[in-house]
Amino acid sequence: MAQETVRETDSPGVTAEFALPVGTATLRATVALPAGRTTLTQLLPIIQDIENTIVDQVTLEAEAAERPISCRAGCGACCRQLVPLSLFEAEALTEWLQTLPEDRIAHLRQRFHLALLALRDAGIMDRILDGAWMNDEEINTKLNIDYFHAGVACPFLENESCSIHAIRPLSCREYLVTSSPELCKDPAAHAIAGLQIPVRLSRALFAFGRQIEQDKRGWIPLVFLLAWGKSGAKPGDRVAGTGPEVLKLFLQEAEAHSGNADEEA
Ligand code: SF4
Repeated sequence: MAQETVRETDSPGVTAEFALPVGTATLRATVALPAGRTTLTQLLPIIQDIENTIVDQVTLEAEAAERPISCRAGCGACCRQLVPLSLFEAEALTEWLQTLPEDRIAHLRQRFHLALLALRDAGIMDRILDGAWMNDEEINTKLNIDYFHAGVACPFLENESCSIHAIRPLSCREYLVTSSPELCKDPAAHAIAGLQIPVRLSRALFAFGRQIEQDKRGWIPLVFLLAWGKSGAKPGDRVAGTGPEVLKLFLQEAEAHSGNADEEA
């Protein structure tokens, strides 16, 4: 069980110490949290920091085992996949988009529009919307392969680099490979050696999404972000409390997903 003790510091914040089992090790950290009402969405920067620490540790272990990560800046092969985006990350990205200058948001709107048109023309859009892939593993696998083969880059991929690297989704942070980057150009035809992350925090966010939406998925395809944002949804409001309360809830859910590295998105 994730342990947490909370001690007061300077108002209006508190600090929380926690321990999260990560594979055979335990991640122990102290984080500064808001003391007042906090939503799961507002906690995302802390969750991203925890994720980065886990990924850094797993990366070091892979290097020590002479299986270094082959992912590099400028290689965006994996950014042509169907990327699962939690509802809370969708909320945070929607708010971030609203802070951008008009010319930048217009540029991104165009990129999302073109990506959706390309998916429609490739026959992928109808298959995503009919939802059959959510209930059938074979259909899901085929959809993911065909999505990749459609070659539609994530709208945030610019010059083969992620233009939102610091705030990219957890599922992107968790996708790391140790095989040759060349193989990533066609993952259906090659065996890709993916790094196993002992605790995939994205799965905890998806679980909260399933709870509040009561659907089988609990996330949206990233390429639907702008359309989703128009709904004005605030999923974070449905997982809220004091900062320490929300962190504790999240860590409990994360621990429940520990060791499920191959778990279906
Ligand atoms: S958000 Fe960034 S890392 Fe994730 S798929 Fe898009 S470009 Fe790639």
